[in-house]
Amino acid sequence: LVNADIALYRAKERGRNRHEFFSDALQAEIATVKRVADDILRGIEQREFLPYYQPLFDARTLEVVGVEALARWNHPVDGRLAPVSFLKIAEDLNVLGIIDSLMLEQALADYTRWDALGLSVPSISVNVSFKRLHDQELITSLRDLDLPAGKVSFELLESIFLDEVDPIVAWNLDQIRDLGIHVDIDDFGTGHASIVSLLKLSPRRFKIDRQFVTPITNSPEQRRLVGSIVEIGKSLGIAVVAEGVETMQQASILRKLGCDILQGYAFAQPMPAAELETFLGKRRRLSNAS
Ligand code: C2E
Ligand code: CA
Ligand code: CA
Repeated sequence: LVNADIALYRAKERGRNRHEFFSDALQAEIATVKRVADDILRGIEQREFLPYYQPLFDARTLEVVGVEALARWNHPVDGRLAPVSFLKIAEDLNVLGIIDSLMLEQALADYTRWDALGLSVPSISVNVSFKRLHDQELITSLRDLDLPAGKVSFELLESIFLDEVDPIVAWNLDQIRDLGIHVDIDDFGTGHASIVSLLKLSPRRFKIDRQFVTPITNSPEQRRLVGSIVEIGKSLGIAVVAEGVETMQQASILRKLGCDILQGYAFAQPMPAAELETFLGKRRRLSNAS
């Protein structure tokens, strides 16, 4: 019966009106998911999730215009884990919103410290999951935080806006803006939202995903495509960020195509708060010296 239940679980997960057979592989897979799920809940409790920060650079001046907080799991046994190893399970467990809020709280604390140290970080970006944007308590919890107006930005996946008709989402988006939080669109061009719904949102920035950026050095078509996306941003007065910039050659093409902001390993990897402080401190000393 337990085995039948495992097969039933998988069948339900894959949709209605179907059957699944139990197998040892399925059992092992579900046991792994269950183990990771328990571990995530423990990790949240123990505050093992923390943000790494990746700077964003002005494409022309190469000044740091902000940092993006990216979740990492400091696992006691497995070491530092990237989102790919926990995001999906956290989402299924309905706790991704908790991780999002932990990242925001930590980023705000770090921001306050950087400010006190005189390290200028013009803005901090956090990723906001679909569930969090549907959370009726989101705004109440944001009001409890001491948000520096105009300094915080929420990166939302394009696919989220398909749901803008949802009254809770629409209200949350309105209130988010009233709180002085910018809205940026992540992975622009990979979802299925209409230009109209994007326009209504009046985002501050679009982020062009790495899958569009990587091929630009070898493919004229891909270069034109990125150029067209930049034009959409320009004609709407929305700043354009290119993500996953791995080489200076890509950076130079993107700059010529009119991208405003660059982010990627060519400039800086995501790093812990302390390392970012060193990074920003060094840059400050260099610019003071010149
Ligand atoms: P994203 O928001 O599109 O973040 C960009 C991802 O690309 C990050 O992966 C970053 O480390 C990586 N990256 C940056 N520059 C380069 C580059 O030059 N080359 C390559 N190959 N990769 C680069 P990461 O940190 O593993 O995050 C993956 C995704 O997980 C993020 O994609 C975001 O969707 C999600 N995520 C991360 N943190 C959070 C969070 O706190 N909350 C939520 N809801 N999602 C998060
Ligand atoms: Ca992002
Ligand atoms: Ca992306």
